[in-house]
Amino acid sequence: MQQMTLRGRILALVAGFVVMALVVMVMGLTTIADYNRMMSDYSRASENAYMGECLNYLISNVVMESRGIYHAKSRQEARIFAERLNENLDQMDTALRHWRMAGTAGADIDLDQVEGQTRAFILERRELARVGVEVSPQAAEQIGLNSRQGRIEFQRQIDSIVAKTRLREIGAAKQVKRYSHERVTGFFLVTLAWISVTTLLSLWLVSHFITREITRARIAEDSREKLLKELMESNTELERFAYVASHDMQEPVRMVNIYSQMVVSDYADKIDDKGRNYLNIVATSAARMHLMVQDLLRYSRLRSERSEELIVDLNVQVKHVRANLAQRLADTGASVASYDLPNVFGNPVQIQRLLENLISNGIKYQPPGQTPQITLTAEDKGERWQINVQDNGIGIEPEFAVQIFEPFRRLYTWDQYQGTGLGLTICRKIVERHGGTIWVESGPGEGSRFCFTLAKPSEKAAGGEASLAA
Ligand code: ADP
Repeated sequence: MQQMTLRGRILALVAGFVVMALVVMVMGLTTIADYNRMMSDYSRASENAYMGECLNYLISNVVMESRGIYHAKSRQEARIFAERLNENLDQMDTALRHWRMAGTAGADIDLDQVEGQTRAFILERRELARVGVEVSPQAAEQIGLNSRQGRIEFQRQIDSIVAKTRLREIGAAKQVKRYSHERVTGFFLVTLAWISVTTLLSLWLVSHFITREITRARIAEDSREKLLKELMESNTELERFAYVASHDMQEPVRMVNIYSQMVVSDYADKIDDKGRNYLNIVATSAARMHLMVQDLLRYSRLRSERSEELIVDLNVQVKHVRANLAQRLADTGASVASYDLPNVFGNPVQIQRLLENLISNGIKYQPPGQTPQITLTAEDKGERWQINVQDNGIGIEPEFAVQIFEPFRRLYTWDQYQGTGLGLTICRKIVERHGGTIWVESGPGEGSRFCFTLAKPSEKAAGGEASLAA
């Protein structure tokens, strides 16, 4: 089966809620309607029972001949009669006992009885019919109310009607009670079920959504970790390969280099100019290859080198570099100025190599005849020091500012400026191993400013073991 989308599930859930809500609403409405109907049955039954009892009472008065009967043929006639009666009541005020029985003897009018005076009742046909007594227009005669026997019979009839009506009233009351009990319980249970189902569905949806997101994140994380691991493995493999290759190439390259030079010096008089020229090319290429293999080896060794980190005084490192480059400084007349360089935290050997590469590039990449001037400064960047190596050389086109840090990326031929194209790659590797960044700010003919960041000793040295490398 095709997997339902999240949107589809939400829609299905909403539709389910709506259907359930409609069911509950319809149930509620039918319950209310049923209940109202039963209540009106019940109140009609009790009203009838009450009216029957009143009639019974009146009839018993008639039977006992304490009152006479007036049977109005219509409601209109009954009203006129009652009005007249009321007028009499006003006049005979004190002698009266006032008795009001709404609905007993007329639908709209009240019956006022005058005890012992009027001896009259108003029994409208319709009212008798309501409690089940059929009375013809000539009611009194026909139902025999004018004879004692007839009145007794009529009362019996009324008695039985009243009894039946009472039974109906009791039945209706019971029904109402049972109904309200069952229905209210049912309604309550259905509502409870609805709320439970709704809550469960919502929880399911939410948990499903969260689980899905977590699973996705985990899968992404897993594949990222896997990718990273693969990348690291392949990097390690490559570096090992570069190391082995450069290490093993060292010896044959050195041999080619030495022997080609020996041929040039020892057999110069035995070969002609052309041969000598060829041999020179072989010797130069071998020397160049020798340098490249050495740099490659230096680069590959960075990974396996023990990363002993200490507090490093940069002023001391610059002094070492000056000593190493003494010959070149003397040959070119270059100056290397450094101003109050700070201590940093890192591997002293690697940091010295970093400085040496940058300073020696500054000396090398100069226009002909210009005296190189290299200046080293430092800037406090909060957690780190930024070290700047500024030269007055040929500068670099901004578009090559990133590329020059890639392996073997050179902007000039060997004849123009000699080099292996690995110096800045080594610099970048050293800085990154120290958690910093390296970049160049330059333009053609403007000189170059190589900047890199290194950790301050304070944050790392707090860890313990650090000592000053001088
Ligand atoms: P190389 O052995 O060629 O010097 P690097 O990796 O040190 O290799 O430098 C890469 C390239 O970056 C160089 O070939 C050169 O074109 C450019 N470069 C490096 N340093 C400077 C500098 N100080 N001024 C101008 N160009 C530079």
